[in-house]
Amino acid sequence: MSGKILVVDDVATNRIVMKVKLASACYEVLQATGGRQALITARRAQPDLILLDVMMPDLDGFAVCSALKSDPNTAHIPVIMVTAIADSEARLRGLQAGAEDFLTKPLDELTLLARVRSLLRRQSSPDDRRMLDQTREVLGQPRKQDLTEFDKNQRIGILSATKREGLIWQRVLAGRMGCEFVITTREAALAASKNQPDLFLIEGNKDMPSDVLQTVADLRARPASRHAALVVLLPETAQRVGAQALDQGANEVLLHGIEPEELAFRLHTQLRSKHAADQRRAEVEAGLKLAVIDPLTGLFNRRYALNHLENIATQAVRTGRDFAVMMMDFDHFKEINDKHGHSAGDQVLAEAAMRLREKLRAMDLVARLGGEEFLVVLPDTSPEQAERIADRLCKLISTSPVKPYSTEAEIHATVSIGLAMGGQRMGVTDVAALLDHADRALYVAKSSGRNRVSIAPVSNEDRGKPTFEQRAV
Ligand code: GH3
Ligand code: MG
Ligand code: MG
Repeated sequence: MSGKILVVDDVATNRIVMKVKLASACYEVLQATGGRQALITARRAQPDLILLDVMMPDLDGFAVCSALKSDPNTAHIPVIMVTAIADSEARLRGLQAGAEDFLTKPLDELTLLARVRSLLRRQSSPDDRRMLDQTREVLGQPRKQDLTEFDKNQRIGILSATKREGLIWQRVLAGRMGCEFVITTREAALAASKNQPDLFLIEGNKDMPSDVLQTVADLRARPASRHAALVVLLPETAQRVGAQALDQGANEVLLHGIEPEELAFRLHTQLRSKHAADQRRAEVEAGLKLAVIDPLTGLFNRRYALNHLENIATQAVRTGRDFAVMMMDFDHFKEINDKHGHSAGDQVLAEAAMRLREKLRAMDLVARLGGEEFLVVLPDTSPEQAERIADRLCKLISTSPVKPYSTEAEIHATVSIGLAMGGQRMGVTDVAALLDHADRALYVAKSSGRNRVSIAPVSNEDRGKPTFEQRAV
């Protein structure tokens, strides 16, 4: 695995020992000899991870960590604090300063490398972060949530060997966290297909601590618990299992004997990063949707429609089947706006979109090309079927008026449709040519009275001749 790691320690021997351990796992190692240098190097070199000594003469590790976490240029870089003293107060201080993890010297190589791998794996790539920033620019920044409010909506599932032990953990945590707790079993957790907890606290059995590995792997593999935070709690003698658990996808490994205060803090941190990851996923999904969906009608937009039309045309060449392209435009829409207002006009467009969507098959494409112009593409459709459907769509709009909320009036809207057939048999497989044919047919429908369908010439020999067939509906 590639990765750039910044080692910060004022003692040269410590840096060298760390560098040897990390280099053996093929990481690129940068060094800083003190707190101030660490801040400068982190900003400039953008490492993927920082191993930070606590006791340093110029700026101590807590101060460095707080500074890193409050600078937007370095806040995303995970920090592991490394110290000789293992007292719980120092650990808590480090975590509160924003450190992702805390390790004590002398470092166990196995644990160190497992922690490093786990943090690097969770680190989002610069591309992901850029994409997220862009999505946020479009959607607006999410509202920051108040901490206690945040806690209330979270659920922790406790997976202990016995219910009694589960209840003990619940009692320890309930006074320190505002979340809901559920005591569950491995079987129940794996069988559930929805409403899974946000975090599973998985306690390893003293005699068989390695059982947690299977549980972690299974929960990660189930769609319903794939995104849950997994925190493993192990006997102090089971460090090796802990390292394996991180590699299996556990987010955090803690050892028995941990102070309740620190346990609550670590769970809280995991809940928050799980929540942030959920939000990121939702934002990316919303961003993707925004890129292809027209917000007024919920139909696909022009960009998506033209791409998809290319796919349908390619597919039609492969199958040898015909497909239909319809250009649909509202008649005298300017008058509708003038008479009833722009918002009523919007409602006509939205209602029309709904009617079209309801009448067509899932495989058909309905899109808003822009303004009051829609595109309908029907794959796998013969000319006869296409004509029938075009007539029906025309009537679908004209026969029942739209009643907007904003006015008492009923709006009688109509559309004109230009229909062109595509596919090998029709001799037209080029999308631009097809759209042009449909557009010309639409023009004919408009000039011959509107509220009607006009059909573009269908065969090669007809093409170019002004033999548009029209029908009033
Ligand atoms: P024609 O029958 O020849 O198509 O006449 P028309 O008035 O529909 O055609 P024109 O292209 O001249 O005008 C289209 C009108 O549609 C003008 C524009 O204000 C209106 N329009 C375009 N997009 C929207 C929209 O999103 N909402 C509303 N309410 N009106 C829109
Ligand atoms: Mg129009
Ligand atoms: Mg128009």
